[in-house]
Amino acid sequence: MGGSHFLQEDLLTYRLSEGVGLFELGKMYRPRDIVLAFSTRLGGVSQGPFDSLNLGMHVGDEALAVQENRRRFSRALGITASDWVVGEQVHSNKVISVTDHHRGRGALAKDTAIWGVDGLVTATPGLWLVCFYADCVPMVFWDEKVRVVGIAHGGWRGTLQNVGGEAVKSMVKSFACSPRNIHAIIGPAIGSCCYYVGEDVAEEFRGRFPVGVIGWMDNGITLDLKEANRQQLVASGLIDSQIYVSDLCTACNQELFFSYRRDKSPTGRMVACVGLRDLR
Ligand SMILES: [Zn+2]
Repeated sequence: MGGSHFLQEDLLTYRLSEGVGLFELGKMYRPRDIVLAFSTRLGGVSQGPFDSLNLGMHVGDEALAVQENRRRFSRALGITASDWVVGEQVHSNKVISVTDHHRGRGALAKDTAIWGVDGLVTATPGLWLVCFYADCVPMVFWDEKVRVVGIAHGGWRGTLQNVGGEAVKSMVKSFACSPRNIHAIIGPAIGSCCYYVGEDVAEEFRGRFPVGVIGWMDNGITLDLKEANRQQLVASGLIDSQIYVSDLCTACNQELFFSYRRDKSPTGRMVACVGLRDLR
């Protein structure tokens, strides 16, 4: 596993704000004037399998409860839920650049999300890019020099299509970012400790990632999806020491996270959220 050059215990810090539990980058990694957080399941109003801070509107939860949860999480971060920008997430590698024109897409209703995309990048302050996950790999990107942020959702299908690399490409193409100035965090997601896959999926990953991604444990073949995405970001030109990988496993930590693999359907979704503070 890469990323030994940063201190895992300093990478993400847990904060409880008005009952809402969230993870933010630790002080030594935190970019200036950028909001960046990962939600947990703590502090919402949803019931049953969505207990309690479910932020996904596409999973069968009550829309009103999800809206309230989104407002609570946003308040905890000092942002407004109506300024979220949400992609539909279809396990593709499509990433688009968003502007003021997209403000509020998918923020309070699922049918207004931006269709057919799994990644978003922006240079517009005050837009909060959001991606949903419950085991899949959330990736968040930032370039403090050019002031650009990005987000991508990598399940195993999106990872095989290099959705993280496409997000980097989009930052380079749309805003002339240099990959060497881009930082990335691979957030809480299912770890290889809990992620068993079939031989067909393993074979596809072995072909693309000969080292460090496919393993073997008592119960079968394991996949390290975070490591696969990390390798792709290195291949996209990011500096190894600027790719931070959280070792938090969504399936291991039932108190903190929803996990699709552990809980089966239906279950809730966490979000990764990133945006540029408006400095005016
Ligand atoms: Zn685990």
